[in-house]
Amino acid sequence: MGNPSLTLNGRSIEFEPGQTILEVARANGVTIPTLCHLKGCHPTGACRVCLVEVAGARSLVASCSTPADNGMNIQTNSERVLKTRKLTVELLMASGKHNCITCERSGDCTLQDLAYAHGVDEIRFPVTPQPHATEDANPFIIRDFTRCILCGRCVQACQDVQVNRAISFGYRGPKAKIIAGPDVRYDQSDCVFCGQCVQECPVGALVEKKGKFLGRVKDVQKVRTTCPYCGVGCQLNLHVKDGKIVKVTGVEDGAPNKGRLCVKGRFGYDFIYSDERLKTPLIKENGEFREASWDEALDLVANKFKEIIAKHGPDAVAGVSCARSINEDSYQMQKLFRAVFKTNNIDHCART
Ligand code: SF4
Ligand code: SF4
Ligand code: SF4
Repeated sequence: MGNPSLTLNGRSIEFEPGQTILEVARANGVTIPTLCHLKGCHPTGACRVCLVEVAGARSLVASCSTPADNGMNIQTNSERVLKTRKLTVELLMASGKHNCITCERSGDCTLQDLAYAHGVDEIRFPVTPQPHATEDANPFIIRDFTRCILCGRCVQACQDVQVNRAISFGYRGPKAKIIAGPDVRYDQSDCVFCGQCVQECPVGALVEKKGKFLGRVKDVQKVRTTCPYCGVGCQLNLHVKDGKIVKVTGVEDGAPNKGRLCVKGRFGYDFIYSDERLKTPLIKENGEFREASWDEALDLVANKFKEIIAKHGPDAVAGVSCARSINEDSYQMQKLFRAVFKTNNIDHCART
């Protein structure tokens, strides 16, 4: 027996049992917009932007959370779908302060894209006043509740992707809000400032504090690189403007981190601009450092090792491999100590 099939926008399509309508559509090149859907997480159907029309169903269904079924006849862009989606977008735009002009996410905001795509050039509904003040007391993340659409992606990113469980939904009705702990500031909660919530926020409700007013998506160039901090080798995108980093994001689908980062990888890049950064080896003579070439410094270290081993034996030396080194470098270091120096005095610094 073959796979089940359905009709999508008039096209007959086979699908894998267990796929949702959204997954079938995406697998077949049909775009259904989403706001709350977070890849790899359980669909919540919260934003209602992915509604589609299924023949015979009384109401529109959320494609992210509705399993595809054999024989379904689905329309993703019918007049009814587009009208409802436009209304949803209008209501979201009216749910806070969405003026876009100085928003950090302008040009990279799913709500803004949806408003444009559906021709929302005026908001017909009264804008709901937002009762929660913006939080920017911590060094890394600004939480602007006036731009939060309560999609819940940040909560899933924190709870399910990073498994930090620092934030959740709090309050009800017009006071509804994403809260940290019992509704305290991020820096007073269990938040570890991994910044995953910021990366997954589809609008400008969570932004990187250090990058504010330094450049938006149209101004920056993305440069993919490997995190310099530890041996895991997480893949980063540096967002660079005029040679300076504006912000850092994890490379989605890039192994090994699949878009996730820790606080150091995401926010700890200031050191590269430090005036105190060492750029050449230094050799200390008569209590003072002087700059040296790599050849000179390496010869000095090698000769010192030789001298100590000749005088006191191989167990008089020890090595600690840097936690920032990649596995291959740590392997080479233990080879140097065990096979060349003939000592087992070799360890690895586990802390970063
Ligand atoms: S969050 Fe999006 S829609 Fe709202 S102000 Fe920012 S760019 Fe505009
Ligand atoms: S920064 Fe990380 S730990 Fe803190 S709330 Fe966001 S996802 Fe959770
Ligand atoms: S902060 Fe962003 S991700 Fe979290 S609920 Fe609000 S809009 Fe969604």
